[in-house]
Amino acid sequence: MDVPAIPLPEFDPGWVWLVGAGPGDPALLTLAALHALQNADAVVYDALVDERILALAGATAELIYAGKRGGRPSPKQPDISARLVQLARARRRVLRLKGGDPFVFGRGGEEALALAAAGIPFRVVPGITAAIGGLAYAGIPVTHRDVNTAVTFVTGHNVKGDVPDNLDWQALAHGAPVLVFYMALKHLDQIAARLIDGGRDADEPAALIAAATTGAQQVIETTLGAAPGRAGEVAPPALFVVGEVVRLRAGLDWLGALSGRILDADPLGLAASRDAG
Ligand code: SAH
Repeated sequence: MDVPAIPLPEFDPGWVWLVGAGPGDPALLTLAALHALQNADAVVYDALVDERILALAGATAELIYAGKRGGRPSPKQPDISARLVQLARARRRVLRLKGGDPFVFGRGGEEALALAAAGIPFRVVPGITAAIGGLAYAGIPVTHRDVNTAVTFVTGHNVKGDVPDNLDWQALAHGAPVLVFYMALKHLDQIAARLIDGGRDADEPAALIAAATTGAQQVIETTLGAAPGRAGEVAPPALFVVGEVVRLRAGLDWLGALSGRILDADPLGLAASRDAG
């Protein structure tokens, strides 16, 4: 694809570009990400990067898998960083391609710091993070004027794979009206229990969104209390969203509408009260 009117930075040998590939749908790549793919000599990619995105790399580019899934041996984080340094020192144009946004629960910061420590020049190309892109494809706005003026992104895992213990769950429960959890499936029962314990209503609307923006996207509308019982119906990668914004899906499921879903123009039931007031 030619995009002559938009100036794109030169991808120089010896540089590493840390690039977000977006949540799945290749159409959500940025122009800078596409440009990087077309110019890279080496593409070091994660498990969540779609094959159709990798297919955009130049014919001579070396594709190097650095993911942590799929039964393949998982490279350790320091090994990945060391590989990036080594490739850059060999004067390659190195594209480090990550799912979503490289700086959102993606260890992009760690890798960039390792590059800085080694004196390797790098550029960061943001991508659409799963919470933003995934919710949009599920027809759930992350903010809506009638519902929330804040939203919180949370990881359901810490480094060890446990529920984060350095989180103030009471504060989290009382904080933003909308919470979006990444990596939430494994500990969904604990996450829901801690939020309810912290004062969230078990009947609050919630949704599980798996493989968002891909052909396999699955959305389960449920409640905070009932969600753990539904977790088995989806496979990772999945997001968990808690909040009244989930109700808006009845009016905003544009993807469902493409296959015939009739949308409700007043999903929060506000028209009647506005008319009355
Ligand atoms: N850097 C990524 C997040 C990496 S952590 C980003 O900005 O999106 C991996 C987690 O992201 C998964 O466990 C899941 O919670 C979420 N995720 C990534 N892609 C997803 C998708 N297509 N659908 C649902 N969740 C997704």
